[in-house]
Amino acid sequence: MPTTMKAVRKLTPGPGASLVTVPVPEPGPLDVLVKVNATSVCGTDYHIYSWDPWSQGRIKPPLTTGHELAGEVVAVGSQVTTHRVGDFISAETHIVCGHCQQCLTGQYHVCQNTRILGVDTDGAFAQYLSLPASNAWKNDPDLPADVASVQEPLGNAVHTVLSVPITGNVVAVTGCGPIGLMAIAVARLSGATAVFAVDVNDYRLDLARRMGATEVIDGRKEDVVARLRRLSGGGGVDVLLEFSGNPTAINQGLKALRPGGKAAMLGLPSRPLEIDLGNDIVMKGIEVKGIAGRRMYDTWFKVKGLLRGGLDLRPLITHRLPLEAYEDAMELMRQGNCGKVILYPHGVPNN
Ligand code: NAD
Ligand code: ZN
Repeated sequence: MPTTMKAVRKLTPGPGASLVTVPVPEPGPLDVLVKVNATSVCGTDYHIYSWDPWSQGRIKPPLTTGHELAGEVVAVGSQVTTHRVGDFISAETHIVCGHCQQCLTGQYHVCQNTRILGVDTDGAFAQYLSLPASNAWKNDPDLPADVASVQEPLGNAVHTVLSVPITGNVVAVTGCGPIGLMAIAVARLSGATAVFAVDVNDYRLDLARRMGATEVIDGRKEDVVARLRRLSGGGGVDVLLEFSGNPTAINQGLKALRPGGKAAMLGLPSRPLEIDLGNDIVMKGIEVKGIAGRRMYDTWFKVKGLLRGGLDLRPLITHRLPLEAYEDAMELMRQGNCGKVILYPHGVPNN
């Protein structure tokens, strides 16, 4: 085992990050040490890199960012009995307390003391990382590393889609970033009658088509509400899945829902927003559900089942880069002309 490793770290408060050599972490008694084979870039990583207002309030440098990963267990802490060297794992990134009311009632995904890997603790943009064994999800051995890495945001998509009735229903997806794109494929596989996808970026609209959207709608050019109503036969869509966090898209989605419809909302607006609660929710009898993270570990079992059942994420993974090219990855994230970008801390595999 090497004693030092490469890591992308935010060393000081402010934009950017540095590629540095640091000691390989020592796993604590309940931790596993993981060799990171693939780590995908999340919007959160870009927010921290660009040092947005949320990061300024939350991040305490120095910190290794990154939290979506696939890797191999190379050492286990002295008290770990559940994992072995050689296990192929991904990470549930919410490190929960186990003793608050939510944790004690099985609602770990809304633990009030949650710490997040790569946000509150050193993360995956490194050749090795240490994490609690209880957060290390064992993958099927033949799952490709890139797909294994994106299971964390896939879990967000699956949690959202499966929280509302999909089979035989007409679905609108607002926001076709990586999570919305995955939700399109999950909703199709779950038996949606049709999935109508809305975005404002050509690259993402093209990916939405390739992930199985029945129709795509360009929010810059079209009357989104009128088009969704027309496509659903006049009355409105049965289900809204919201992944943009954009106030315009959220309002359009709610207006396009039929009376009695259901909305599941994962997108995070950057500030409080105005909605017509009376007309668009109360008097239409809409049910709105907020979706935080992934259910631990129900959602992970569903993710495993969907991948075994043929969920195809190939169009989603658009860029593969060595860890050293993290600045190029962040530029892709800034432009939005990408699906998932995967970084490889030990080199990009040939196949
Ligand atoms: P992303 O930023 O890549 O995707 C957002 C998409 O919305 C982009 O493709 C963008 O073009 C599109 N968009 C912007 N304005 C729009 C408009 N007016 N109409 C339609 N589409 C519009 O983000 P992502 O990584 O796919 O994540 C999706 C959202 O989920 C983000 O808001 C993120 O912060 C949030 N998130 C929430 C959780 C949770 O636990 N609730 C977890 C992860 C991410
Ligand atoms: Zn808790």
